[in-house]
Formats: sequence, C-alpha cells, structure tokens
Amino acid sequence: MIIHSDFAGGNIKTVRRSGNEVYLENELRDSGQDWFYWAFCVEDAAGQTVTFRFQENRLGYFGPAVSRDLVNWKWLSETDKSRHSFLYGKNSFTYTFGKDENRVFFAHSMLYHPDRFLRFAAAHELEVSEFCRSRKGRSVPYTVFGCGKRSVILTARHHACESTGSYVLEGVLSELLRDPLPDAKVLCVPFVDYDGVIDGDQGKARRPHDHNRDYDKNQPSIYPETAEIRRYADEHGCHYGFDFHSPWHIGDVNDCMFIVQNSFEKADRLDAFGKLLESEMTEKAFRYRHENDYPFMHGWNLKSNNFSQYMISRPENVLAFTLETAYFGTQQNRVDQKNLTVSGRCFAKALRKYIENYGATEKIF
Ligand SMILES: [Zn+2]
Repeated sequence: MIIHSDFAGGNIKTVRRSGNEVYLENELRDSGQDWFYWAFCVEDAAGQTVTFRFQENRLGYFGPAVSRDLVNWKWLSETDKSRHSFLYGKNSFTYTFGKDENRVFFAHSMLYHPDRFLRFAAAHELEVSEFCRSRKGRSVPYTVFGCGKRSVILTARHHACESTGSYVLEGVLSELLRDPLPDAKVLCVPFVDYDGVIDGDQGKARRPHDHNRDYDKNQPSIYPETAEIRRYADEHGCHYGFDFHSPWHIGDVNDCMFIVQNSFEKADRLDAFGKLLESEMTEKAFRYRHENDYPFMHGWNLKSNNFSQYMISRPENVLAFTLETAYFGTQQNRVDQKNLTVSGRCFAKALRKYIENYGATEKIF
C-alpha cells in the first residue's frame, strides 16, 4: 500500500503505520493557525481493509470525501456500507478496497480540481488566459466576459483549501453566461492563491498574511494575484465584487451558507441581497437562509484587509461581500458537487434581480 499526496491539492503526512492501521496528520506548512485540510491517494491496496486515524477536527459529519478520478466525489457514508465504517467524532475511518480498486483519493472535503474549471470554460467557449505569474512562476488563470460599464469581479480561493466556494462560483458563471447581466463586464479569477490550490496548502493564515489579508489600502500587495486584482479594479472599477469561500471546518454557522456582512453603511444593501438570495433558492440547491448571515463587527468578523472590505469601501462600489459555503452542511442540507453549483446559479439570479431593483441607485452611468 502506498499513501501519497502527489497530485493537485495533495496534503498528507504519514506519521506511523502498524499493520493495517495508519496514523495521519495534515501539513500546516506556512499556516500560523491550526487548520484542517488534507487530501491523499492510496494505491496498491486492493483487497485490503485499512483504518486511517487522524487528529481532532479533521473529519466531517459524513466521513471523508472519496473519489477514484479527482473529478467525482462522494461522502464515505454514501458509499457501500459493507466496505467502510465511520462514526463522526471518532477521528478515524475504515475502508475496504475492492479487488480492482488500485487507486482511491480521500479528502477532507470535495476537491475542485483546476482542470474542472478549464473543462467548464471550454464547454462554454470561455477563453481562459494568464492573469499573472504566481510567486512560484505558474500561470494563474482568469477569464473575462461581457461588456459594459458595470464592472463585476468574482473570485475564489483567496484561501487555497476552500473548494466549496469554487463549485458555487462555477454555478454563478454558468447562469451569467446563460443570461448575461445588463451592461456588465465580468472578471473572474477562480484560484487567487493558485500555488496553494495546486500544492495542497491550507492557504488560511499564511505567514506573514494570507491572500485574503493582502488588501491594505496603505500597502502594496505582497502576492502577484492580489496586486493584479487591485490594479484591475483601479482600471475598470469594481461595482460588484463577490468572493467565494468556505468557513471553518464544522459546527454552528459553519454548516450553512452565509454572507459575511462587512459594512454598516451598506447594511441595507447586504440585507436586501440576502433576502433576494433566499427567495431564489430552489429545492435542488444547497440552501441558504438570510438569517444565518454573519453580522459585521461581531465575533471573528472584524475590520480586515480582505478583498470584500477593500472593494466595498471603493467609491464606485455598490456591493461586495464574502459568501461562505459549508464543507459538509447538515443531514437535511448536505453538500454535494451538484447542489453547490445550483446555489451558484441562484446567486447569479439574485444578483440580476438586485441590479433590476436597485440599479438606479448605482453611481455608474
Ligand atoms: Zn476563506
């Protein structure tokens, strides 16, 4: 049996093996805070039954996400029960590899491989180009579509591990391409911390600061991607800016989809958007409720040099915020790859309604 992290998003350390028990830890790398992301591949274990043991707070309600191809993901508890055992809170799971199951991926949550974005773009005839070079010299992808005076900026993965935001963003794009916003040019940077996404970093709380703390008005950005986003906003404006994230690992509001409110001055707009978003939610969506929105200057939600606070305080900006989407959800509202994209489509419809209802108050034209 080989356990490795040699794939986009891989992150694991094998601490110890004894018989068919494996003790694993995730790698924090340059994160200054304990975080929970991990993803690994098991090869050459066909026919074996193996127990994987973790630290606290590394497994969700439904066990790990499981995939054979890095494309399709299921929760362990949705797979054949005769071949696994998992109890939430025990920090371990047991898996029996089928006779011809020679390669299986396990992860904290459902990964969103950058190739999925490229396939999505190709299927929608969306041109993907180089936004900038990352610190490690990689070509960071972006896309831009539509034309008009209204500038919309959509981003995800300011925190590398936060894959649920990517599924929601894909849904937003699919709806905006199907039925474009009026008079709008949309910039999308799907993997802001591209190196972190590829390398399988946590990305959260990087030292000295992470990508979503790199928007200090009084300081130049330290990451090329965020510097380029700021430059774009200076050139084109940012009338609407939405940044798609995942929250903390699990529990309470972290099991929901919620808007992180970020302004007292624009509280009415944030509430209005939240109401529209709730009313656009369908049965097939990972559901959102306005009442779960996180109030500004409450708990962990303080003033920050993040994307959304930077954008919302720009003079031309109408609305900007972070949308958080749970990694697992709950028994009644459970995350899967499909329902997150449906929520994204609902989000785009809410945005269109917002512009229809309140567009006249924009200082754009
Ligand atoms: Zn985040």
